[in-house]
Amino acid sequence: MADDAMLKFVARGQQYPAKRSAELRAEDFREIADRYAVPDAEAQAGRCSQCGVPYCSVHCPLHNHIPDWLRLTAEGRLREAYELSNSTSTMPEICGRICPQDRLCEGNCVIEFSGHGAVTIGSVEKFITDKAWEEGWVEPVRVGPARGQSVGVIGAGPAGLSAAEYLREMGYDVHVYDRHDRAGGLLTYGIPGFKLEKEVVMRRVARLEEAGIVFHTSFEVGREATLDTLRARHDTLLIATGVYKARAIKAPGVGAAGIVEALDYLTASNRKSFGDAVPEFDNGGLDAAGKHVVVVGGGDTAMDCVRTAIRQGAASVKCLYRRDRANMPGSQREVANAEEEGVEFVWLSAPDAFDGGDKVTGVRASKMRLGAPDASGRRAPEVDPGGGFQLQADLVIKALGFEAEDLPKLFGAEGLGVTRWGTLRTDGKTMMTSLDGVFAAGDIVRGASLVVWAIRDGRDVAAHMHAWMKARAGASVPAQAA
Ligand code: FAD
Ligand code: SF4
Ligand code: SF4
Repeated sequence: MADDAMLKFVARGQQYPAKRSAELRAEDFREIADRYAVPDAEAQAGRCSQCGVPYCSVHCPLHNHIPDWLRLTAEGRLREAYELSNSTSTMPEICGRICPQDRLCEGNCVIEFSGHGAVTIGSVEKFITDKAWEEGWVEPVRVGPARGQSVGVIGAGPAGLSAAEYLREMGYDVHVYDRHDRAGGLLTYGIPGFKLEKEVVMRRVARLEEAGIVFHTSFEVGREATLDTLRARHDTLLIATGVYKARAIKAPGVGAAGIVEALDYLTASNRKSFGDAVPEFDNGGLDAAGKHVVVVGGGDTAMDCVRTAIRQGAASVKCLYRRDRANMPGSQREVANAEEEGVEFVWLSAPDAFDGGDKVTGVRASKMRLGAPDASGRRAPEVDPGGGFQLQADLVIKALGFEAEDLPKLFGAEGLGVTRWGTLRTDGKTMMTSLDGVFAAGDIVRGASLVVWAIRDGRDVAAHMHAWMKARAGASVPAQAA
């Protein structure tokens, strides 16, 4: 009986795949966790109590069929487990690696609440899909009969790639445009290899290319073509360009050499991992080797910067964040990894000025304290009059988050409606922008968010675009987008 393999959470403890030692992992950009051996993955999946109302699935943005593929895994039916997990996600092995599971599926597992430690859902998801790639179970995209209609996707991040895959399955000609020379968006050039190895992303891109999706890389919409040019070329368009305008620090000296943007820094490092020549890195500007590094910010981007600096051989790495540990936006798991690797967190601190004139030599900072909750409900940081201090720094990385670029201006499309945050305004029911036949998805609609939400948006918008194109083609429109 199926349940024989399940409900083992009392007798069997929670066990994540072992991490490599901090010393070893600081030497390279490979992922830090080992793989589950098959019996361990099956045993951990068997801890699930097969809830009638699975809160793990409810809180997974993709509503993955988690208890079902855990059961199949526990029973050793790994191929079926993979197929089921793949049925709701275009990138399960990527989500298994980089979703903040502690805030999503695992954070809502009932076993966690009963004090036994959540089922290790993300690690099992990664395991079954990696296994599927190794065993050749990942099949080519099944391209549907050609419809003779064409879709343009602007942005090859997880939102654009997911939509492209579903639309190609439906038989559309799909063209993806991206300003970078490689597809993947932040999966490729933002997130470092120690969280997500680049081959994992590139094999997904290759599978889409093999399905006939045409990639136009190094193609910046707004420079190579206006939005109108692409509208004329395709029956419908998707804008999935993410958010890239870095939030600024306003402090004296912020223009000095050695004070750099987080994404420039991470992109250079990721390019080096691909073996590219990167002049800004090769001349030392974006290389932390031998330097005293201060990263300003407390989100995922800041965590990726501090851990990259450790791997580049920085002399010291400090993270300055204006709130405390409990109130930081970055994942607690990543903070723990960073601390193990030698990063020092300077909580409740904010920069006042940068010393050194032309070339930064230090950061002058204030101690902060948490005051009354602001409009968002979070306690607002305020300067603690008692304390100021100085830190030595020859590389300062600004990682304060990202906002939307001015797309109507960049795209030469004044009619493209935006919200007061600069993100694209879409119809909540159809995901269409203010321009007929132009849809939008991912961070450019949500603001800086998560990969799993971008994948979900890609899945949803593909269904809406399909309904719209069927209507255009004169065919009957399904009552609800399929
Ligand atoms: P993106 O991934 O940003 O892709 C947009 C694409 O559009 C890019 O390839 C860009 O080159 C292209 N583009 C932009 N403008 C143009 C133009 N004019 N013409 C042509 N192409 C254009 N999320 C997690 O879930 N887990 C994490 O661990 C995590 N870590 C992160 C670490 C960092 C450093 C950053 C910055 C983000 C992280 N995120 C993480 C967030 C996550 O990466 C994003 O939410 C997600 O990638 C958004 O997907 P997207 O497809 O909307 O946009
Ligand atoms: Fe959990 Fe993310 Fe996988 Fe959903 S996609 S099950 S949230 S790891
Ligand atoms: Fe299994 Fe936990 Fe999901 Fe319940 S909440 S179905 S125990 S993984």
